[in-house]
Amino acid sequence: MTKGEFVYEGKAKRIYRTETPGVFWMEFKDDATAQNGLKRGTIGDKGIVNAEVTRRVFQHLAAQGVQTHLRGQAGERDLLVDGLEMLKLEVVMRNVAAGSLVKRLGIEEGRTFPQPIVEFYLKDDDLGDPLINDDHALALGLATQDELEQLKALGRTVNALLQDYFAAADLILVDFKLEFGRRGGEIVLGDEVTPDTCRLWDRETRAKLDKDRFRQDLGGVEEAYQEVLRRLVAAHA
Ligand code: 5GP
Repeated sequence: MTKGEFVYEGKAKRIYRTETPGVFWMEFKDDATAQNGLKRGTIGDKGIVNAEVTRRVFQHLAAQGVQTHLRGQAGERDLLVDGLEMLKLEVVMRNVAAGSLVKRLGIEEGRTFPQPIVEFYLKDDDLGDPLINDDHALALGLATQDELEQLKALGRTVNALLQDYFAAADLILVDFKLEFGRRGGEIVLGDEVTPDTCRLWDRETRAKLDKDRFRQDLGGVEEAYQEVLRRLVAAHA
């Protein structure tokens, strides 16, 4: 497979065509942004770690029956993926209170919820990705009622699978963001699952091993990303 025409550049990835129609080349960059693009930087070898974490996580999910866009690996920071008609919403799953939820609801960071929370956010940088409910999603034509139900069910399924997957690496899956698209009549998991898009805490110390180290200037950012990959490789040979 060869890297063809450039299609799109996002904050963390570049997309190119390949010689196969409908199959795209996804290159993971070392660039990092936070606060909706206000804070910018690079995290050394992040692209390599994130491509490999996504490949491993998506392969695991596919083996458990979750449909994903992953087709294969093209390079150390490059994956081959099916083109999807992406939904303009993000699905966030939360197991432990952190991030925007702590601010919005005034609860303490670290509280474990009795059951996972599913949230939808509108994908819109200009608006700062606002939280929306089902009625907003329907009103904006982002998805059908049936698709919203599928997204919630998929979010819960992926969450249960990934809680176990990360727990085997002594990591608590605090929360994470998923993006889905349509392929034919099906809803398929796209984008990435990485320390950029998940909060991952050490099980014992609750040390943050994710993008919050960059967002909050905690230091040891590269080391945290490498540590997540190292643990996943060790736990899932
Ligand atoms: P929060 O709403 O607390 O900021 O984020 C919840 C979870 O979703 C975190 O794990 C965070 O990394 C992820 N998340 C939400 N929105 C985005 C986004 O636009 N980009 C990235 N990389 N992650 C996001």
